[in-house]
Amino acid sequence: MTLWRADLLSDTVTRPTPAMRQAMARAEVGDDVFGEDPTVQALQERVAGLLGHEAALFTPSGSMANQLGLRLHVRPGEELLCDSLAHVVRAELGAAAAFSGITSRTWTAPRGLLDPPDPIALLQTGVGPYQVCTSLVVVENTHNFGGGTVQPLWAIRQVRAATRPRGVAMHLDGARLWNAHVASGVALAEYAAHFDTVSVCLSKGLGAPVGSLLVGSADAIAEARIWRKRFGGGMRQVGILAAAGLYALDHHVERLADDHARAQRAARAFADAAPGCVDPETVETNIVVLTTTDTGWSPAELVAAVAAKGVRGYAAGPEALRLAWHLDVDDAATDYAIDVVTTLLRARPTP
Ligand SMILES: *Cc1c(COP(=O)(O)O)cnc(C)c1O
Repeated sequence: MTLWRADLLSDTVTRPTPAMRQAMARAEVGDDVFGEDPTVQALQERVAGLLGHEAALFTPSGSMANQLGLRLHVRPGEELLCDSLAHVVRAELGAAAAFSGITSRTWTAPRGLLDPPDPIALLQTGVGPYQVCTSLVVVENTHNFGGGTVQPLWAIRQVRAATRPRGVAMHLDGARLWNAHVASGVALAEYAAHFDTVSVCLSKGLGAPVGSLLVGSADAIAEARIWRKRFGGGMRQVGILAAAGLYALDHHVERLADDHARAQRAARAFADAAPGCVDPETVETNIVVLTTTDTGWSPAELVAAVAAKGVRGYAAGPEALRLAWHLDVDDAATDYAIDVVTTLLRARPTP
């Protein structure tokens, strides 16, 4: 059992529920490297269908799903474009360069929000032997380091309209696309329609212990399957994990709205206690980023002070405390966390 009374470090800290564990224990399995695991196949077909693409591939992590997607679209020495807070350039440890010889250029996006002129201004195609060719634009939805922001569909459409005639592919890092879908009401497939490949995670808010998928055309996924094995991601009787994903899709998607409501409730309470530390209007999903600048606390001090009371948060940079809601934080734990954080915010440490 966790020692935390409210573990808001990340939505990855969830433990499989008893019912999910039962579904895992019951799963039919086979050797998935030979394509013989029926539960993995069922999961792949289900997620491809949900996202309106031809095929999907189960991967051990979201980073691998992203890296397979990037690999498919960008040849060594070519470039991808993404915003400077994107997971693919900040949190995948240089994998695109280390494994695939991909260079990256970034634009600056306040709160991670996509503004079409930013990527469009960076596109470079047909520059032959003189400059680096752009092969891919990556969009993250929801945006993790941006604070769980939902990307507007109109902005995605505009970028797609600009990239398509220039032969530039688009990849969606949809680790939290489920949250975007639940918050906005936009269908998963409506988001996914604008991308050549999409990655989604089962191990964030959906609460599965492991697992992500890459979705795309049948040809793209067949090639990704080869690269997955090459990257060391071929897995055997992995239907046990796929069963957790299927269970999560059945039971843990719509409930993300509860996480969003709790995050919103917390943001309002924080804004009351320390005006200006967070604008509740910007809290669109399950992540609250509290700016500590005018609170008298540094993020590290605040993390330590809330930890002493059994609440775990994450110091996300020199001026920000990040708190993420998920299925192991209920209303009572939320009330408790609100009480701890607001009490500390009101009792500013004397400088
Ligand atoms: C968590 C996450 C991933 C994948 O992370 P893994 O830890 O490799 O599963 C990818 N993109 C975003 C935006 C994420 O938050």
